[in-house]
Amino acid sequence: MQIKADLHTHTIASTHAYSTVQEMTAAAAETGLELLAVTDHGIGSPDAPHRWHFHNYKILPRKINGVWLLKGVEANIMDEDGTLDMNEHELSFCEWVIASYHTSCVTFERTPELILQGYRGACENPSVDVIGHPTTDYFPIEHEAAVRLFKESGKLVELNESSICWKPGAMKNAYSFYRLCRDYAVPLVVNTDAHFSEQVGKTPAAAKLLDELNYPRDLIVNLDAARVMEMAAKKRGIVFA
Ligand SMILES: [Zn+2]
Ligand SMILES: [Zn+2]
Repeated sequence: MQIKADLHTHTIASTHAYSTVQEMTAAAAETGLELLAVTDHGIGSPDAPHRWHFHNYKILPRKINGVWLLKGVEANIMDEDGTLDMNEHELSFCEWVIASYHTSCVTFERTPELILQGYRGACENPSVDVIGHPTTDYFPIEHEAAVRLFKESGKLVELNESSICWKPGAMKNAYSFYRLCRDYAVPLVVNTDAHFSEQVGKTPAAAKLLDELNYPRDLIVNLDAARVMEMAAKKRGIVFA
């Protein structure tokens, strides 16, 4: 399984990541990707770029090193109502929006009920495209309720290579969570969450998991870059030319 669009990556704009846009796109080209989304952290994160990082996205070309570029953000879900750290104005500069929980950004008590309530709020935000890395033990959820919510919301759900490899509980939880996603026919995006160029486009752990679950290939949206580009064109009028 080789993804053709990596839709969750970080650049040196987040200082705990180590590669530039040039290096990330060059690595994407080398891996055979057609599309890359750069999605540095939303402004509520302790290691976020300044808001001007997003405001100035217009100067970046649509294609770099032969790879189409989506200029995005990994926004933080900040509370149990699903408020994002990027308001409507900030999000208007972004072409691809992931909504994720991170422990550094929330202060509410992380019960499964409140976490799900936050996801519900994020799902109601029309700017959000993807729910990011939903299976860590840091944010425990009741799997079936969450999968039903995501399915009904029409948001894409992420299977995140870095998360399942590095975060507590994420791999174990993933088997149960993505099995339910399969049963409810939830469309996925499989992303690296690369923080270094060498990681771009490589998702062996996710591929193994999806093989074992026999996940239908037509539900893995970013196996086909054109499909993602069509979504971005339809939703935000992005022209890939
Ligand atoms: Zn994240
Ligand atoms: Zn990330």
